[in-house]
Amino acid sequence: MTTKTIDDVQLAGKKVQVRVDFNVPMTPDLKVSDDKRIVESLPTITKIRSAGGAVILMSHLGRPKGKPTPEFSLRPVAQHLGTLLKTEVKFAEDCVGKAARAAVDALKPGDVLLLENLRFHAEEEKNDEAFARELASLGQVYVNDAFGTAHRAHASTEGVTRFLKPAVAGYLMRKEIDYLGRAVADPVRPYIAILGGAKISGKIDVIQNLMPKVDALVIGGGMAFTFFQAQGMEVGDSLVEQEKLALAKHLLEEAKAKRMRLILPVDCVVADRFENDAQRKVVPVTKIPSGWRGLDIGPETVKIINMELRKAKTIVWNGPMGVFEMSNFANGTMEVAKLLVEATHSGATTIVGGGDSAAAIAQAGYEKAVSHVSTGGGASLEFLEGKTLPGLAALDTK
Ligand code: AMP
Repeated sequence: MTTKTIDDVQLAGKKVQVRVDFNVPMTPDLKVSDDKRIVESLPTITKIRSAGGAVILMSHLGRPKGKPTPEFSLRPVAQHLGTLLKTEVKFAEDCVGKAARAAVDALKPGDVLLLENLRFHAEEEKNDEAFARELASLGQVYVNDAFGTAHRAHASTEGVTRFLKPAVAGYLMRKEIDYLGRAVADPVRPYIAILGGAKISGKIDVIQNLMPKVDALVIGGGMAFTFFQAQGMEVGDSLVEQEKLALAKHLLEEAKAKRMRLILPVDCVVADRFENDAQRKVVPVTKIPSGWRGLDIGPETVKIINMELRKAKTIVWNGPMGVFEMSNFANGTMEVAKLLVEATHSGATTIVGGGDSAAAIAQAGYEKAVSHVSTGGGASLEFLEGKTLPGLAALDTK
């Protein structure tokens, strides 16, 4: 069963309502400061227009807490989109009610309209039925192209599909499903996952879901230290989740019993303070001095990851290898980003989960040099956990 896309439905002469993710960073004077998400929606918008449909775009921006808040208005985004499309993008002062209805009624084939922030109404996040029904009344075809919110059952992602059919995926959504879906369900082997980030707690379900599926699971970042302490090692002042020690021990035992390859760092960069200009040195993970903390993986660990990745045909990476926000502890993360680029050149499919790893790969300038960088942090994590994403499950299948 595959999800239907805009290629499967009639768009000519239709008012096509598209849930996009225009939750973009803004400057203090309310200009779009990073338009990556807007740019990524262009193929879907262009397809609808060229097929003779009119486009009704809806999105959230920031956290306006259910009431109109000028600083979270999508109006500047409409202007920015207009510049990118080289056409006028109309704007409706509200996503429902008279303003939305009048704007939609005036639409002609090829027109583009952006509705005001969905989250100016508390009903959006509550997935209120009446609100979803009203939203749905605006369009004749529903398209979801906002992977980043697909893990939330909101009125614009799930509720609306109960009242508006066909309900299909846009091109950006399709790309996410293609890459992440294949990595979860049918990966080309060897399949290696690299997980990092601060804590095990946010990644337990991913670890448990991926461990039996991958050929090797590499763990880096802060969460490695909970695994070390669980093995009785000294970790100094490194980040440890005391309440997850038993779980870490259990995961290590399970990996051993089932002969799964769980690869932990062998060396790390330790610092005497949690500051970029702290004193630092590289030590084996068995020799972390008391009073010091591990803030990055070391060069020997990078070599081991390199050896693993050279064999891999599918690689999924989620979570930084160290405190990459501080330049002196970003090396491990940047090296892994480079290794992913090399693996991509050698023919591997390389997928970077959203959130911090996406930020790291962008910081390294390699966004275009890997197979896929997911646009959804929480959503890509839930996908890798094997969970059903409500916004995706609500779409038509064929
Ligand atoms: P997460 O949201 O769980 O993916 O964690 C991302 C955060 O983990 C980033 O802000 C990193 O700075 C942080 N992080 C990575 N490695 C470490 C470490 N060794 N110690 C403390 N924080 C870390």
